[in-house]
Amino acid sequence: MSTPGPAPVTAGADEARRLDAADPLPTLRGEFLVPPAPGGAYAEAAYFAGNSLGLQPRATADRIAAELADWARLGVEGHTQGRRPWVDYHELLREPAARLVGALPHEVVAMNTLTVNLHLMMATFYRPAGERTRIVIEDTAFPSDSYAVASQAVHHGLDPAATVVRLRPRDGEEHLRTEDVRAFLEREGRTVALLLLGGVNYLTGQLMDMEAITAAGRAAGAAVGWDLAHAAGNVPLRLHDWGADFAAWCTYKYLNGGPGSVAGCFVHERHVRDAALPRLSGWWGTERAGRFAMAPDIAPPPTADAWQLSNPPILALAPVLVSYEIFDRVGMPALRAKSERLTGHLARRFAEIGADVVTPADPARRGAQLSVRVAGAGAAAERLAREHGVIADAREPDIVRFAPAPLYSTFLDCHRAAEALAAVLREK
Ligand SMILES: *Cc1c(COP(=O)(O)O)cnc(C)c1O
Repeated sequence: MSTPGPAPVTAGADEARRLDAADPLPTLRGEFLVPPAPGGAYAEAAYFAGNSLGLQPRATADRIAAELADWARLGVEGHTQGRRPWVDYHELLREPAARLVGALPHEVVAMNTLTVNLHLMMATFYRPAGERTRIVIEDTAFPSDSYAVASQAVHHGLDPAATVVRLRPRDGEEHLRTEDVRAFLEREGRTVALLLLGGVNYLTGQLMDMEAITAAGRAAGAAVGWDLAHAAGNVPLRLHDWGADFAAWCTYKYLNGGPGSVAGCFVHERHVRDAALPRLSGWWGTERAGRFAMAPDIAPPPTADAWQLSNPPILALAPVLVSYEIFDRVGMPALRAKSERLTGHLARRFAEIGADVVTPADPARRGAQLSVRVAGAGAAAERLAREHGVIADAREPDIVRFAPAPLYSTFLDCHRAAEALAAVLREK
């Protein structure tokens, strides 16, 4: 956190610096490459877009370079003779990924990208039959998820308009109530084949009660999957205990794996041994021992690896391994505690300036993100970045999202965000 030059001395900045210095979990900002601020009092940006693309760990470049070096030195032998042999490289991510999402090691696998994994999971777990054909998502689902479930309906010869149910908050409310999801499932659950929600809503930042909703979905006889794009690395997860059928997450948001980095996937233990489940298969989904025997028939292992298709992109896995190692080192409990302190501070500062925060005020019902309603979100975010070095993220027409990422965001960043937003709102 370098703040050379005449950084403004205000009560808010002083307080923020004191909070940074006294925090029980000192920032790991020094381990990340923080983009420069565009001039002004601060050398570095106040980066709040880690829910869109997390910052680059300094260790990442060397880790990719090591694989390039092994490729140069060994060619094809790198598969077995590399420092981290490529044929088993994804195994290195298994245990830290499992710890991050609260899974057993054989329930997780690093593969593909998020939307691809959602499709692979739906190929197995979305099995419309009889009157049980519907897919339930949230009305504010991320567009990729909407497109994915609609295309699954079409794939099964169903009409997406009749098949996809979008759960809406009550009139005048911003968030889905757990009791309403439960009531819907009690009423119409017999028609629901799949419940697929975001663990943390990308737009409002609402943290869902994944445990209660998973239980309600399963009690209704539906398959339950979670999109953890905004939850992984943000909030503590206990996927195994909650009993979700599947989950998938990207690794470039809170996990800092880099643009398009390899995603994660969870399949509950009760399914991994079920050889009768329909899957879309490829050679990386057969037992390791038999893979290079080029056997005519697939022999899936009793793990989430059975859903793998291809040999993984090692250069895109290397940064993800770096990320999981950082999360493993710090641990989600400490990180979540710091996240609540940072986001709580930002929420207080936003309240002081009269910002219209749509994210739940209860810390237990949100992660690291605060979404603020600002007319002309795009122009506002642009000004925050250009004039104040505060990088937030606009979702048109009227939401600007701020995510203090507890690995590298600071109380001083939160102070800067509040000052900058106040200035932008004042000049509207
Ligand atoms: C970021 C995000 C995606 C992006 O999907 P990719 O397949 O990684 O491009 C999908 N769904 C949600 C909820 C997201 O937040």
